Amino acid sequence: MNFLNRDMIIYKTPEEIEIMREAAQIVSRTLGLIAKHVKPGITPLELDKIAEDYIRSQDAEPGFLGLYDFPNTLCISINDAVVHGIPNGEPLKEGDIISVDCGSIYKGYYGDHAFTFEVGEVSPEIKKLLRITRECLDLGIAEAKAGNRIGDIGFAIQQHAEKNGYGVVRDLVGHGLGTSMHEEPQVPNYGRRGRGKKIQNGLTIAIEPMINMGTEKVVQLDDKWTIVTEDGLPSAHFEHDIAIINGKPEVLSTFKYIEEALKKK
Ligand code: MG
Ligand code: MG
Repeated sequence: MNFLNRDMIIYKTPEEIEIMREAAQIVSRTLGLIAKHVKPGITPLELDKIAEDYIRSQDAEPGFLGLYDFPNTLCISINDAVVHGIPNGEPLKEGDIISVDCGSIYKGYYGDHAFTFEVGEVSPEIKKLLRITRECLDLGIAEAKAGNRIGDIGFAIQQHAEKNGYGVVRDLVGHGLGTSMHEEPQVPNYGRRGRGKKIQNGLTIAIEPMINMGTEKVVQLDDKWTIVTEDGLPSAHFEHDIAIINGKPEVLSTFKYIEEALKKK
C-alpha cells in the first residue's frame, strides 16, 4: 500500500469506470449463476467452485481469493453470519439465508457485490429482513449524488433499518473501489446528514448495508474471518458498485441475472 495515498480518494476517469462496469457485471453474472444453484443440499464449497470457474472463463480473476489470505472465491455467510464466511462442505438447509459476496478483478479493476439468497422457503420475518435490507441499499444509492456527503448515504440506510427495529452493523462498512478492493472513502451504513466527505463525479464506491434482525453487535469467530451477530439472530447483506456520473449515482452492478434465475425456479 502506498501510505502517502491512504487518505486520498482516487477519482476515476470515464474509461476506468467502463472497465469497472465490466468487472461488476462479471460478478453480477456470477451471482446469477449461483442463484440457479442455491437450494437445500448444495454445499457452499460447490457454489464456490461454480463461481471461480465462471469468473476465470470471463478473462477475469476471483477478487477475494488470496486477498488478505482469504482462502476462497466467495464469502458465504449463513443465517447469523453477517459477512466473510468461509465456504465449507456442509449442505445448505431449507429455511437458511445465505449472503453470497463475490469479487472479481478485470483489467486490474475490482468488482465487488453481494446478494442474500433464500434457501427453499424462509419465514415471513426473514423475508421482511431481506426486503428492508434491499430497500436500505436502494435508499443509500439514491443519496450518492454530487453535492451530498458520505454521511447522507449512511443516514438514509440507518433511518430505514432502525425504523423497522433492526440493528445496523457498525464494525464493517462499505468502501471506495478501484484498482484496490478497499479504497477511500469508508462508506458506513450509519451516519449523520451533511457529514463526511463530499460526493463528486468519478467517485466509485461499494454500498453494502449489513442489517441484523436484532442487535447491531457482531463478533468474529475463531476462524479469524466469519463475522456473526452477537445474539445469534439472522443478518442480511446486499451490495452494489456505484459510480458518480454527471452528478448522479450509476449502479455498475445489477441483480437482473439473479432475478431472472429466481423467476425460473
Ligand atoms: Mg463485497
Ligand atoms: Mg465490499
